Amino acid sequence: MSNKVHLGHTARKRFGQNFLTDQGVISSIVGAIAPDNNHVMVEIGPGLGALTEPVADMIDNLTVVELDRDLVKRLQYHPILKDKLTIHQGDALQFDFGQLQQAGKKMKVFGNLPYNISTPLMFHLFEFAEQIETMHFMLQKEVVLRLSASPGTKAYGRLTVMAQYYCQVVPVLEVPPESFTPAPKVDSAVIRLLPFEVKPWPCKDVHVLRHLVTTAFNMRRKTLRNNLKTLLSDEDFVTLQVDSSLRPEQISVPQYVAMANMLCDKKD
Ligand code: SAM
Repeated sequence: MSNKVHLGHTARKRFGQNFLTDQGVISSIVGAIAPDNNHVMVEIGPGLGALTEPVADMIDNLTVVELDRDLVKRLQYHPILKDKLTIHQGDALQFDFGQLQQAGKKMKVFGNLPYNISTPLMFHLFEFAEQIETMHFMLQKEVVLRLSASPGTKAYGRLTVMAQYYCQVVPVLEVPPESFTPAPKVDSAVIRLLPFEVKPWPCKDVHVLRHLVTTAFNMRRKTLRNNLKTLLSDEDFVTLQVDSSLRPEQISVPQYVAMANMLCDKKD
């Protein structure tokens, strides 16, 4: 099948370009995003504008971050969009989303994300969680399952713990490959991430939590005691009332936060 999808644009695999073409799916996503002028609306990877057009139609201004220079040019000359868009050409992974916040206005961030960078992009966005009201992302279904997984399941891992530390995670919609051109090889799904206003399990230093969780999941088949032996002693696990003979996927988010806070206290 040809990858030439729209007015001569050829989808670029290296930019993860799978353009949404199913109007029903587009309407459902826009409904979930609930665009409004009380938030700074931000789209990652607008592409040919499948979500950009209906969202921009509902608001005064939409900020977009797009890596592909050809697509940026098309947006700059788009007859309807050009007056509504603030366009940043560049890599969303390196983009300082904090600069977009306006006095009294949090961001609503959304996008049909390039799947090859979705996990690092998620970690990058968590750093701006306090300035974000909602995030809606189209992702590989497998990533949505990881984000929303419960302890004790195969999908539960580093991404799950960090996402659920920052956000309430709500799967919204499953989307089949035929809804895109070109069709991706995997199933997709839309997730809603709602950063907590007040974190249910506050951590004293999120960098410590991140390091601890990465270390814990280094070897999934080993016990927590084994994976964390350079960080926590048997005595620490007793104090924390965490069973160190369990595997990393059996440990809840508040338990990881409690371990990280103990490490922070030890450092002080
Ligand atoms: N939003 C469009 C749609 O739904 O049809 C396009 C989605 S397509 C899956 C991903 C989009 O992200 C493409 O426009 C691609 O060029 C852009 N993109 C890829 N890597 C990017 C990056 N690192 N930073 C910003 N945009 C990127």
